[in-house]
Amino acid sequence: MTNNDKSPSATYPDDRAYPATGDLAPVPTGAEAEVLLQGVLIYGEGEPTDVLLRDGVIAEIGQAAGKTAATNAEVLDLNGQILLPGLVDMHVHLREPGREDTETVATGSAAAAQGGFTAVFTMANTAPVMDNPTIAETVWYKGQKTNLCDVHPVGSISKGLQGKELTEFGMMADSDAKVRMFSDDGKCVDDPRLMRRAIEYSRGVDVLLAQHCEEPRLTEGAVAHEGDHAARLGLRGWPRVAEESIVARDAIMARDYGGRVHICHASTEGTVELLKWAKAQNIPLTAEVTPHHLILTDERLETFDGVNRVNPPLREERDTRALRQALVDGIIDCVATDHAPHGSEEKCCEFDKARPGMLGLETSLALIAQIFVLNGDQDWRFVARVMSERPAQITKLPGHGRPIAVGEPANLCVVDTTTSWVAEGEKMASKSRNTPYEGMDMPVKISTTILRGKVTCREGLAVTE
Ligand SMILES: [Zn+2]
Repeated sequence: MTNNDKSPSATYPDDRAYPATGDLAPVPTGAEAEVLLQGVLIYGEGEPTDVLLRDGVIAEIGQAAGKTAATNAEVLDLNGQILLPGLVDMHVHLREPGREDTETVATGSAAAAQGGFTAVFTMANTAPVMDNPTIAETVWYKGQKTNLCDVHPVGSISKGLQGKELTEFGMMADSDAKVRMFSDDGKCVDDPRLMRRAIEYSRGVDVLLAQHCEEPRLTEGAVAHEGDHAARLGLRGWPRVAEESIVARDAIMARDYGGRVHICHASTEGTVELLKWAKAQNIPLTAEVTPHHLILTDERLETFDGVNRVNPPLREERDTRALRQALVDGIIDCVATDHAPHGSEEKCCEFDKARPGMLGLETSLALIAQIFVLNGDQDWRFVARVMSERPAQITKLPGHGRPIAVGEPANLCVVDTTTSWVAEGEKMASKSRNTPYEGMDMPVKISTTILRGKVTCREGLAVTE
């Protein structure tokens, strides 16, 4: 198999027309804006080489690139580090508008840049809810003003997240924000009639519906996975069937009504079985998994630390094992962080009062590398696929998740595999500190991130002006 065969599939829409989303922040141009990446291993393969970025695109690859670079180009000596396409996260919560005390578009963008991301999708459960074009455009333009990461607002499926009436998908899709994904995430669209109408509507305007799968009548008062640990600790259990029943229902709806449905944060072995079935029938169903559902289990409950409360809850080892295999096999399409910042008062309290959610943007690449790559199971092409190419394809996002080749947009990240670091909430770019990995060794580090030819993370730190 040549390298080319591993590139994103030929069916991926030609996006040379990039940018195609609203007004983008201007691309730096001119000789002084050139960036020379020296000595990188492209996808971790072959010999170190040089990559020259000019006018927001990859201008040249190879040892000669250094010679054609302008004398005042910025030169980054990357000495054998790994060059990947910029990461794309389909699922984050940047909390703006409404909870700017816990995260903003600016701080969330800085966290994204430090995590290697060049595009993120921020969920609609803001206050007010992102259920109209005005709020979506405000968030989009704040992202472009910050210019550390493309911040794509996700529109809510129902007005006010009330689960009663659909929002205007078409108006939001046509707005400057070009909303391409809709979700009531945080809540499930549990009413089957509303979900059916949403799927039928979504098909007409070609947008993606992302479902938070949780049958609410099975999770009333639930705070932790329904298993031995929760039972012993006296915590109300969140059973697997609450997720799986909605996955099954929505798979059948996507089959019969033909819209594109995406399963948020798959967390159980049974969900994997259902996805296998759906994919075997060619149902247009895709799915994501979070790093925390791949690596953490409900044993964590024993600490009673609210930082481990998350929705869906941390499951058991048999679930993490099935989820890992499903990601390798392509049954689960991609990784999404579900980055969910919370203030300390919302986390340092009784477990059942803690708000569900964990930080994820700054630790995800290191965790995925640790689980899949550093043990030799998978290569860096796998990381490019599950953290960049697939999420960009699923969301039909132009300019991101593209092959590393001359003429392609310079949305890139660089992984330093020789520098480990310790996760500390205090030191993160996020405004919140609720990382479940506090004190854990992270084996690799993002050294550099580049958005349309502009360096957004340098030597591991977001470039804030
Ligand atoms: Zn969710």
